[in-house]
Amino acid sequence: MQYFDTHAHIGLIVEDPIEQLIVIQEARQASVARLVSICNSLHDFARVYENLKSAANVYHAVGVSPSEVQNPGKNWAQTIEKSAALPKIVALGEIGLDYYRKFGDKNSQIELFIRQLDLAAKLELPVIIHNREAGHDVLDILRDRLPPKGGVLHCYSEDAAYAKKALRLNLYFSFAGNLTYRNAKNLHETVGVLPPERILIESESPFMVPADYRGKRNMPKYLPLTAHCLGNMLGLPDEKMAEILWQNANRFFGLTE
Ligand SMILES: [Zn+2]
Repeated sequence: MQYFDTHAHIGLIVEDPIEQLIVIQEARQASVARLVSICNSLHDFARVYENLKSAANVYHAVGVSPSEVQNPGKNWAQTIEKSAALPKIVALGEIGLDYYRKFGDKNSQIELFIRQLDLAAKLELPVIIHNREAGHDVLDILRDRLPPKGGVLHCYSEDAAYAKKALRLNLYFSFAGNLTYRNAKNLHETVGVLPPERILIESESPFMVPADYRGKRNMPKYLPLTAHCLGNMLGLPDEKMAEILWQNANRFFGLTE
C-alpha cells in the first residue's frame, strides 16, 4: 500500500533542514510514498525547495497564498514562472481567498487569485485552492478562470450542496485530518455525493491532525488514518482505498505511477 500526501507544509512543520528530511523519511516508513510540499510563502520557497530537492519522493507547489496578499514579494509573478521551470514542480499553490482572517481587503485577494489562475493556465499547471469563508467568490471566479489542467479544493470544508456545484467544474476535492472528527457532518455528507475518482487526501500538516492524535502537531506520517476513515465511509478496504487515492493524486498532478 502506498499513500500520496497532496498537501504538506514541510517548511512549517520544522525549520531545521535535517529535521525536514526526517519528517519525509518517517512518512515513507508509514507508506506515505509521495508528497507535495506546499509553498507557504514565496519568501520561503527557495530554501525549502533546495533542502528537499534530493528527496526523490517529494514534489513541490509554488504560489502566493492569500495570507501573503499584502507582501507577495517584488516581481512575484516572475518568481513563480522561474520556479515553475524547476524539476518536480507539479502545481501552482496554494492560492485562493480567505475572508476569515484579515489578510487584506477582498479586492486585492481576488486580483491576486485571478492573476495566479491565469499564470497557471500559461504554465500548464493545475492549481491548489484555499477557500475560507469565501466559497461563493471562489466558485464564481473558477467558473471563468479555472486553468485547463484543473484544480483541487484543498482541505475541503464546505458542505455537500457546494460540492455538487463544484463538481460541475470538474474540480478535485481533498480531505484532511478533520474528516476523522465525529462532528464533521458536512464533510461526511460530501463524501457521499462525490465520485471516488475525484477525491484526494492530504495531511495539511502541521495543521488538521487526525482525531487519534488530537493536540499534537500534525505530520504526513499520520495520513493513512484519513485514508482509512474515508475507506470506512465508502465501504472500501484499505488496499482498495489506497489504490484509488494513489491513482487520483498522480492523475491530478500529471505524474506517472
Ligand atoms: Zn495549506
